[in-house]
Amino acid sequence: MIPIAKPLLGEEEKRAVLDVLDSGMLAQGKKVAEFEQAFAKFIGVQHAIATSNGTTALHAALLAHDIGEGDEVITTPFSFVATANVIRLVGAIPVFVDIDDTFNINADLIEAVITPRTKAIMPVHLFGLPAPMDKIMAIATQHQLLVIEDACQAHGAEFQGKKVGSFSTGCFSFYPTKNMTTGEGGMITTNDNVLAAKIRKIINHGSEKRYYHDFIGHNFRLTDIAAAIGIEQLKKLPAFTQLRQENARYLSSQISAIAGLKTPVMDAGHVFHQYTILVTPQFPVGRDQLLQHLTQRGIGTAVFYPLPIHQQKAYPEFHHQHFPVTETVAQQVLSLPVHPQLTASDLATIIEVISHVR
Ligand SMILES: *Cc1c(COP(=O)(O)O)cnc(C)c1O
Repeated sequence: MIPIAKPLLGEEEKRAVLDVLDSGMLAQGKKVAEFEQAFAKFIGVQHAIATSNGTTALHAALLAHDIGEGDEVITTPFSFVATANVIRLVGAIPVFVDIDDTFNINADLIEAVITPRTKAIMPVHLFGLPAPMDKIMAIATQHQLLVIEDACQAHGAEFQGKKVGSFSTGCFSFYPTKNMTTGEGGMITTNDNVLAAKIRKIINHGSEKRYYHDFIGHNFRLTDIAAAIGIEQLKKLPAFTQLRQENARYLSSQISAIAGLKTPVMDAGHVFHQYTILVTPQFPVGRDQLLQHLTQRGIGTAVFYPLPIHQQKAYPEFHHQHFPVTETVAQQVLSLPVHPQLTASDLATIIEVISHVR
């Protein structure tokens, strides 16, 4: 069995967790501070604030930017649902813009949907490929919009040599399937001192000084147990990323020769959270049949995402809208294993099985 994702946890993580347990300090403390500093340095920003997960990171970032009732936030309908959910959770309105063949938001379509109520753009660096941040930042500057990067799938990804999460306010997730994990966990990155201080309060019941509350906030804190795992995972991330990129290069070198399959963009800054191909109508069998064929032969695959956000039951007010590229791609995407634990033989097996499907 070759799984679609497999967290890589070693003796270092085990020891780090046991050290925290031995210390008796389980909630937020020294380890969180150490993890935050290391992560800020890695991304190349002044501040990193740890949160309980990627969703709460995004939620806190929106609150910190005073995005709320009646505000519009431009984002993509082709993402994990959390991206849009947090916009709704603060009372704002998601405004969807279709993607292009990179699977990321098509920046050329953004300006057409800007209204006087538009407050922010929330690009997603989907599957580990940076969104077109040059165009997005230029549009944001011109129209005085905020930018909140959903970098939950893109730890260490770079756009024109600059790490995602450092263009504006960045949000990361450390869920077990992501490029690095803390079990559950998240992080917000920023260079803004005032914003960072506000976020620290938002995730801690509006409090800076214990039992004194300046406004109503949440408990979105990370634990020292999780942070201890994160410190070790972050040390290993560059090696993980390199393996993901090597695996992706091998898969693309083989799959690009197979008629009817379309390989993903092979950009140097892509960290391949997912390796996602398109099974086009020119391929001898449909996407779902190929998926079944791989599953039967012990190869884990997944469809990210089978139903775009604007077509979800939770988003009835968007059912009449259409995003043609998103809707087509949702029928054709198939993610193959690309994680760091794949062996050369696993990779060869994946190609062998795909090559012999009829
Ligand atoms: C994983 C993910 C999230 C949410 O992160 P959690 O840690 O699962 O809450 C948000 N956006 C995207 C694009 C994600 O992949």
